[in-house]
Amino acid sequence: MRVLRRVHHMVRLAQKVRLAGQTIGLVPTMGALHEGHLSLIRAARRENDVVVVSVFVNPRQFGPTEDFARYPRDLRRDLRLASSEGTDVVFAPEASEMYPKGFCTSVEVEGLSSRLEGAMRPGHFRGVTTVVAMLFHAVQPTRAYFGQKDYQQAVIIRRMVEDLRLLVRVRVLPTIREPDGLAMSSRNAYLSRVERREAGVLFRALTSAEDAIHDGERDPQRLRRRISRLIQQQPRVRAQEIAIVDAGTLEPVKTLTGRVAMLVSARVGRMRLIDNLLVDVT
Ligand code: AMP
Repeated sequence: MRVLRRVHHMVRLAQKVRLAGQTIGLVPTMGALHEGHLSLIRAARRENDVVVVSVFVNPRQFGPTEDFARYPRDLRRDLRLASSEGTDVVFAPEASEMYPKGFCTSVEVEGLSSRLEGAMRPGHFRGVTTVVAMLFHAVQPTRAYFGQKDYQQAVIIRRMVEDLRLLVRVRVLPTIREPDGLAMSSRNAYLSRVERREAGVLFRALTSAEDAIHDGERDPQRLRRRISRLIQQQPRVRAQEIAIVDAGTLEPVKTLTGRVAMLVSARVGRMRLIDNLLVDVT
C-alpha cells in the first residue's frame, strides 16, 4: 500500500491508472476509521481495480466552535486498517497542501446546503463539497463511496456531480450500526458510558416511527412528536432537529408518500450525533 501526501503525486498516479484503462474507487474519510468506513472500503475493493482511501480532517467543514482540534487522529492505526482491507493507496495530505496560502475558491450546492444540518452548521457543506470536488480532481475516481449515515451530505454530493457533470459514479451505502443500533461514528468514542447507553435511543426512536408508518401513520407532525417523546426519556440526549423530508429534495413533507427520509440530530453530552432512516411509503 502506498501513502501519498502531495496532491500532484496523487494526480500523477491516478492519471497513470486511468490511462492504463483501470478503474479507481475512492473512499473519502476524515480518518479514525471504524466498521462504517471499512464497509465502504470493502465495496470499493469489490468494484474497482485500484482503491484509494483519503484521510483528511478537513478544517473547512468545521465551524469555529466545533471539534476540529479534538477530532480523533491516528494515521498509523488508519493505515493498518486500510491496508488490511486491501487498500492500494492512502491519500493523506496536510491542510497546508490542500489549502495553500491564497486559496480562495469554494464549491457550493445552493439550497440543499442551507437546510437541516446546513442551517445548524453554516458553511459546513460548502467545506465538504469544496474538498470532495478537489479529491475527485486529484484521485479521478470511477466510483466514489459515501455512507447513508450522512444522508444530506450524500444528496448534496450527488447533486454536485450531476450539476457539474463530473465523471464519477456516486455510491451511497447503508449505515453500519453498533449492536444496540447506534450508528457508528468516530465521535462515539467521546461519549461517557452512560451517554453511550442513552445514545441508542436515536435509532430506537427512528425505528419506532418507521413501525408507525408501516401501521398506517402518514402525519409527519405526529411522527416527529413520537420521536421527540422517546428521545426525551433519556436525560442526556437532547434532540436538536427531527425532520421528515422528501428523500430527494430534502423538503419537509405534509403527508407521507414516496421515499421519505427521517433525520435526527441530537446533543449527547458534549457531542453532536446524527442519524436517519429512509422509508418507502406506499
Ligand atoms: P467521516 O470520516 O466521518 O467523514 O466519514 C467518511 C465516510 O464514511 C462518509 O461517507 C460517511 O458517511 C461514512 N460513514 C461514517 N459513519 C458511517 C457508518 N456508521 N456507516 C456507513 N458509513 C459511514
